Amino acid sequence: MAKRVLVVEDNELNLKLFCDLLRAHGFVTDPVRDGREAVGRARDFSPDLIITDIQLPHMTGLELIGALRGDQRLRHIPIMAVTAYSGRGDEDRVRAAGADAYVTKPISVMRFVAEVRALLPGDADAESTAAD
Ligand code: MN
Repeated sequence: MAKRVLVVEDNELNLKLFCDLLRAHGFVTDPVRDGREAVGRARDFSPDLIITDIQLPHMTGLELIGALRGDQRLRHIPIMAVTAYSGRGDEDRVRAAGADAYVTKPISVMRFVAEVRALLPGDADAESTAAD
């Protein structure tokens, strides 16, 4: 069963890059461009992982992480933050808000995929190595 990833990112190029990368690794993706829509979309899509940009219009990624962590039905879903911030204090704030992983932009493709896999043990790619 393919794992599902909700991707919240307002930059179209990054949104396409993340979704293309995830689909190439066997994940099902749902793209969201506005943080205000993310909680509702997460309820509908039931993702196994939520990836969110931090610099979003209308609602920051930090606010979104707080909203997800405050939602009884969504609080258990792992969150990976992707941000252009690079300072240690920024990572601390993102993790303190409730993110399980933190990746800086511009992303390293290998790091991005490795972090996703670490949060989704038994992901879709594992099917190719499992005995039928
Ligand atoms: Mn952004």
